[in-house]
Amino acid sequence: MIQPPDSTSPAVRTSARDSTSLVMEARSLKKIYGSGEKSLAVLSDANLSLRRGEMVAIVAPSGAGKSTLLHLLAALDTPTSGTVYFANKAIETNDDDAALAEFRNRAVGFLWQRHQLLADFTAAENVAMPLLLRGEDFTRALGTARKWLAEVGLENRADHRAGELSGGEQQRVAIARALVTGPSVLLADEPTGDLDEQNAWAVFELLERLHRTHGLTSLIATHNLALAARCDRILGLEHGVLKTRGAAASASGAPGGEAS
Ligand code: ADP
Repeated sequence: MIQPPDSTSPAVRTSARDSTSLVMEARSLKKIYGSGEKSLAVLSDANLSLRRGEMVAIVAPSGAGKSTLLHLLAALDTPTSGTVYFANKAIETNDDDAALAEFRNRAVGFLWQRHQLLADFTAAENVAMPLLLRGEDFTRALGTARKWLAEVGLENRADHRAGELSGGEQQRVAIARALVTGPSVLLADEPTGDLDEQNAWAVFELLERLHRTHGLTSLIATHNLALAARCDRILGLEHGVLKTRGAAASASGAPGGEAS
């Protein structure tokens, strides 16, 4: 299991700065929607280095381009120019579909603001879906899904239809679904944005725990500064460029200042 950086160990801090610990990078990402007079430049030169075990927040106003950036990192969309690297390999969104599907299904877990669950399917079936899509046996996939539902505290809701669950429960199911394939990176787009304060904290604490116990590298877009402050560092997104806003939990010893 990958451990998060240890605040007290200089050796770990050194290795965390080593390029071998880079999990995901974005270099000179540009995204322009549309063309001609109606074109909209959302990302102009976004650079990012995510190191193994980091939990990083992106805080920026609505419309700044957070979703666009996360979609590019997850290879759900193609940049106008620039490159995303995963484990030092460039991700080509025009690769053959199988290679790309493999990346999306195994390398990265994605969490949306709205859970995007299938309301008529049970919680367990929703969580099992990414495993079924990659061809796993149904019974086995359901078994793994149940384990993940237990991890997010919902073992007793496994056979309830997703549409019957509360907002906080639905987001927990979505977290289980994002992680069921065992990705190393979790990308979360305003994961608590639809929840009341109490549920937002509960969901964020769950994300923190899973981040730690599963050795994840997490990038979380949020409006919530109090939640962002619990991350290792905070990035802003201004005029299409990522900027370091602060090393939030600087006591963690996590590296900062990667974005430029
Ligand atoms: P955020 O997540 O920070 O709210 P988004 O990345 O969703 O920002 O959007 C950034 C800007 O890009 C917004 O002005 C939005 O309207 C625009 N935008 C997003 N997706 C598209 C699209 N597919 N086509 C055209 N414009 C888009």
